[in-house]
Amino acid sequence: GVPMLVGLEGLPLGKGKTALIDAEEGSVVIDPNDEARALFRRRAAAGADEKQRAAAVALAPARSADSVDVAVSVNVADPDELAGIDVRSCDGVGLMRTEFLYGSGLPEEETQLAAYRRVVEWAAGRPVVIRTVDAGGDKPVPGFTLEETNPFLGLRGIRLALARPEVFRVQIRALLRVAAQGPVSVMFPMVSVAAEYEAARALFLEEAQALEARGIRFAMPRLGIMVEVPAVAIAPQLLSDAAFFSIGSNDLTQYVLAAGRDNGSVAGLADARHPAVLSLIETVVRFGAEQGIPVSLCGDAGSDPAALPALLATGLRSVSVAPAQLPLAKLAISRTTVGTRS
Ligand code: PEP
Ligand code: MG
Repeated sequence: GVPMLVGLEGLPLGKGKTALIDAEEGSVVIDPNDEARALFRRRAAAGADEKQRAAAVALAPARSADSVDVAVSVNVADPDELAGIDVRSCDGVGLMRTEFLYGSGLPEEETQLAAYRRVVEWAAGRPVVIRTVDAGGDKPVPGFTLEETNPFLGLRGIRLALARPEVFRVQIRALLRVAAQGPVSVMFPMVSVAAEYEAARALFLEEAQALEARGIRFAMPRLGIMVEVPAVAIAPQLLSDAAFFSIGSNDLTQYVLAAGRDNGSVAGLADARHPAVLSLIETVVRFGAEQGIPVSLCGDAGSDPAALPALLATGLRSVSVAPAQLPLAKLAISRTTVGTRS
């Protein structure tokens, strides 16, 4: 919940200088004059008022200005984050990232199960979508990911998981076991072709059989995919066996605009509101509606008040957002008129 600016290099900062940092706008003013200070104060006050208005709608269901319901779930990167979140403010967990488990060595099945169970218990009957490990690219895991010249186009996400089945199977067993304890779905990151989805699904079936043979309680979760590789967003029909789609607008945007998400110099290009990205999102939403495949979006654009109107205009009716952004996302939705499309 703390605004932050990154990617600042070569600023003429020094001892005793004053800097006004506006992380909403992405600006820094060094040694501001009176006019800049007054403007900054007005913006800060307006931001504080907006936060209060957002807090007032945080517990209410998200509904557009013309009364269209929008599901708003939360993204969780570590179960410890849940302590400060009122579960009644969300429609469940739309993305539980699992990379935190892989910080210091490869995690045991029981360690994973305990972490997943905490989230399922917190959600108290609401749906929880857990993503299988998305190591690589911007999320390197020492001892698991490889040194590659271009890690964003390399062995990351489901590609790496399938290349290391002995590691992936441990996570699959923990996921099968936690699925017996609540409405858990599982999704695979960085899927590019149907064969990856099928291979991952086959591993789930094999591990389920093995658990059954050992008399260990489990359930088969719904298996969906992240839509974050352009090939899938362009031709979603190739992945129509997936139980649901969750659009990863962070990666989808970087691949469509060819602008690295970790590179401040091209940050201006990586904008999910680019018509090319929106058109792909619309393709996926429309395909999902035609085929009865639920579609949600769990990238950061889903909580950006500047992007939400355009996202809702694609027909999207479900987003999953960082907990700190949830009230502001609901407020932005309440101010958007989406029209008659659903
Ligand atoms: C995304 O790519 O939009 C996404 C939600 O996944 P991550 O940011 O973890 O890559
Ligand atoms: Mg991603």
